[in-house]
Amino acid sequence: MEISEIQTRIENLPLDDQNLIYKQLVNLVNDLDIDISQIQSSQKASESRHCPHCQSSHTVKNGKEHGVQRFLCRSCKRCYRVTTGTFNARMRKGKGELLKLYMKSLLGGDSIRKSASKCKIAVPTSFQWRHRILAALQTQQTKVILDGIVESDDIFLPYSQKGQRNIERKPRKRGKGIFEPKKRGISDEKVAIIISQDRKSQKHLQVATRGRISEKNIEEVLDGKLSKNSILCTDSHPSYIAYAKTNKIEHKTIKATAKQYIKEGKYHIQHVNQTANEMKKWLDNFNGVATKYLQNYLNWFAVLKRIETAQIPLRELSIMICASFDAIKIIKAIPNLSYI
Ligand SMILES: [Zn+2]
Repeated sequence: MEISEIQTRIENLPLDDQNLIYKQLVNLVNDLDIDISQIQSSQKASESRHCPHCQSSHTVKNGKEHGVQRFLCRSCKRCYRVTTGTFNARMRKGKGELLKLYMKSLLGGDSIRKSASKCKIAVPTSFQWRHRILAALQTQQTKVILDGIVESDDIFLPYSQKGQRNIERKPRKRGKGIFEPKKRGISDEKVAIIISQDRKSQKHLQVATRGRISEKNIEEVLDGKLSKNSILCTDSHPSYIAYAKTNKIEHKTIKATAKQYIKEGKYHIQHVNQTANEMKKWLDNFNGVATKYLQNYLNWFAVLKRIETAQIPLRELSIMICASFDAIKIIKAIPNLSYI
């Protein structure tokens, strides 16, 4: 088809359709302009001042290795290169245009398989790329500080070993007497996720543990996440009450049995409950996520709205993942997670 013919055809379309096409073209042009390696090097330049091992800024340049600048941290005496831990380190093809195509496919909600076929890469490669990108998004969760009225709640998802070869077998129930009490409520078959968000739509989602959550679990998840003047709103779970008391956090409890309940006109947990429902529904798109990769998906969900509503979503995603220098470390740590 001749270009002039395409033009005529577009001009003959209803105005709304024409606008839609122009918008999509603008998006395409915007995406073409994105240079991930350039975003990455500017993020690295600002990050290179900080030691990836101990976060100290007391660092100096320390020669070059294969043309890559090395740094020495005066605080912990360890060396690092600026490529340390970037999400696409040693991803042979994961640079430039192919990576961009992959990220667009990810943003479009494609499955790992579909992204693989779009980018003409192997399925295991597609799996690796997806999880490196999602692990890189964890930096956004690490950085977030919730402020003002903060709603927090825990939800449970079934523990899943999808795709794992050595599936843990359930012990056979042998000689279980009829008088033995049945296991009630929340068992180890469930994973607990703590969802917290403030009224500026900042979200924090983290897998806390397997089974019932304790005060310690909440402490581990919320430590450093609440600003000094935040007011925590939760249901009346005793672990939350204990956590708030120990840490001297202003706390409003909302009766779990009356989720619509609003205290003093503003304290409630309706937003966080809505987020929980949206998250569960969204996870259904992936046909059951293995628990070991659940946190990666939570990282994604936490920033999903920010990416989708950005003027150029691909650019937003690029900036977010290029700000991370510990994606590989996060992936390597997965087998040691307490809830696996
Ligand atoms: Zn250091």
